[in-house]
Amino acid sequence: MKDNAFNGQISGRKEIHAEDKIRFDCHPGVACFTRCCKDADMYLYPYDIICIKNRLGISSDRFLEQYSIQAIRDNPYFPSVMLKMSDDEEKTCPFLSPEGCTIYKDRPFSCRAYPLERAVARTGDENGRKVLYFIMRHEHCLGHKESREWTVTEWIEDQQIELYNEMNDLWVDIDSIFRANPWGSQGIDSPALKMAFMACFNVDVFKKFIFESTFLSRFDLSGEIIEKLKKSDVELMKFGFDWTTFFLAGTGPLCGFH
Ligand code: SF4
Ligand code: SF4
Repeated sequence: MKDNAFNGQISGRKEIHAEDKIRFDCHPGVACFTRCCKDADMYLYPYDIICIKNRLGISSDRFLEQYSIQAIRDNPYFPSVMLKMSDDEEKTCPFLSPEGCTIYKDRPFSCRAYPLERAVARTGDENGRKVLYFIMRHEHCLGHKESREWTVTEWIEDQQIELYNEMNDLWVDIDSIFRANPWGSQGIDSPALKMAFMACFNVDVFKKFIFESTFLSRFDLSGEIIEKLKKSDVELMKFGFDWTTFFLAGTGPLCGFH
């Protein structure tokens, strides 16, 4: 399922609100079961990669190489990361089995949130965001004809997307830096882009960069922060976002440590 809502671009669709009801259900009994897991143009967000690579027990580096493609899409200054579909005739998701999704508990945000589409609009205040929701309808999806009803809030709880939302909101801020072409005349060939991509998407290589380079001699991080970075991929990714903000925009919490 495709969801590329995190760019603040909102077309003329009808917004729905937290307590509005949506009619939808998805279960093995629907005639279209797993139809959406084939030939899907699926964007992956940084936090998706942490969840799936840990589920598979592989490094982020290997995940990116084996299961993703990178392509310039709606942002001309930064590649989007997409799930690489199998090269069979139906272009099946590599995580699909005859019984359904083999990584269901760790499936990407787009698979969880559907049919909700979430857009984040920047309000102009510092860190200010306004979250908007819309409903997506794909013709092949019969889930919209099921009788079960949910409020938007209930759907978000049921699909356990709160942490995904929190991480994706942080990503919106970084993505908006990229959209302003921070690379200058070097464009997307800039070495700084490679660094930013690593810090945002390749958490295991970023960890090596933190702990196996001169980084810790240049940034005076507390023992508590260092311990968190050693133990938690989520903390590492948040730190990667802060690092990207610092070296591209010269702002953010890392200014205080340099
Ligand atoms: S990750 Fe799972 S739910 Fe998402 S497309 Fe693949 S098989 Fe389907
Ligand atoms: S109901 Fe929709 S989301 Fe569920 S399997 Fe069918 S196409 Fe996919």
